[in-house]
Amino acid sequence: MSKSILFLAHVSDAGNTLPKTSYEVLGTALKLTKQFGARLTIGLIGADVTAAAETIAAAGADRILAVSGPDFATARYASDAAAAEAICRSAGAELILAPATSRFMRSLAGVAHRLNGCVDTHVTTLEAVNGELCATRWHYRQRIEGVFRRSARPWIMLLESGCEAAWTGQPAAAKIEEIPVTLPKAATRTVVTGVRAPKSDAQTIRPDANLLFVAGAGWTKKQADGKPHVDVAEKLILDFLRVSGASLGGSKSLVDQSGESEAVLGFMTHLNQVGQTGSTPRHAKGLSTCCHGEEPHVVGWRFINERRAVNLDPNCGWARGKADVLYIADAFEVVAKLNALLAEKSRISSEAVVSQD
Ligand SMILES: Cc1cc2nc3c(=O)[nH]c(=O)nc-3n(C[C@H](O)[C@H](O)[C@H](O)COP(=O)(O)OP(=O)(O)OC[C@H]3O[C@@H](n4cnc5c(N)ncnc54)[C@H](O)[C@@H]3O)c2cc1C
Repeated sequence: MSKSILFLAHVSDAGNTLPKTSYEVLGTALKLTKQFGARLTIGLIGADVTAAAETIAAAGADRILAVSGPDFATARYASDAAAAEAICRSAGAELILAPATSRFMRSLAGVAHRLNGCVDTHVTTLEAVNGELCATRWHYRQRIEGVFRRSARPWIMLLESGCEAAWTGQPAAAKIEEIPVTLPKAATRTVVTGVRAPKSDAQTIRPDANLLFVAGAGWTKKQADGKPHVDVAEKLILDFLRVSGASLGGSKSLVDQSGESEAVLGFMTHLNQVGQTGSTPRHAKGLSTCCHGEEPHVVGWRFINERRAVNLDPNCGWARGKADVLYIADAFEVVAKLNALLAEKSRISSEAVVSQD
């Protein structure tokens, strides 16, 4: 049976480019288009979608639809839902794929309701099996993987980032069909007046980093000399993040300490927490330091491909098969040595660039 698929995306609030995860969803949409022999429509939302459309024009969609203009520049439920609804109705697609950005996570459930369809979030894989679409997502904090089908249409699916390879292609001229959407006054009441973001040196969560560096409560505990060395720990960790470009995670014990008036790492917040009651980030590699590796923590490592840990205790949780490699060592010494090696490596490569010039 011939199907029609809509790939829906919005340009980033900061400019006129598409978020990286959009290209991963486009890759999935193209895979399914091929598997089903379907028609593909692209739908774009934003202040000006021309540049974004050009980056994906070579993907070969049948149509590129857009709802654009200043009213659609920033995230706002009322305008995002109206724009997505108009695109979905014009495309008439049975399957609608979109990246799980915060903007779409807030607005597309409402769109599914308006279309009398259904919606699934946190989808990690989509495959055609015997001519039917099967979706995969994780349940119970990433402990159980569920594969499911739905008969309701249209079916909107929000795909998690980092699960599929991003589509790449050369920019090309794009033929865009603009869909006019006039917003009622009530839909423009909410206005984004500014963005408050941490200073760039405090930005420790880096979803695109190759490595996740996780710090545990051990960094703030008494060390061999009977004293804690939190100031040394802070410097070692921040230096490591700077030279390695890694993203920073924390164990629950460590991030909770700020609320318990204990010695804390100033840059560590609850947003860094990895685990059952924290996040499950996706990175190629992970390095855990001064963290015991208990099950509620390790469940947050579900999508880290290669796991290594440094702990003084040879009986720590990581030793029970939860890390690929466990170094029984003092993390203060290991990270100091790593920082020195990485600094040396970057010095040598910058000298090589200068001598090539
Ligand atoms: C319902 C529930 C949900 C939970 N959710 C989460 C969650 O989402 N995330 C989470 O992290 N936890 C979670 N926990 C808590 C979890 O069970 C652990 O208590 C917590 O992860 C322990 O943190 P930690 O390993 O940093 O601290 P500790 O258990 O105190 O371990 C510190 C480790 O540091 C090591 N160490 C000390 N000094 C050094 C050194 N110099 N070099 C190397 N190693 C050193 C010690 O050997 C020790 O193993 C949850 C618990 C429950 C009950």
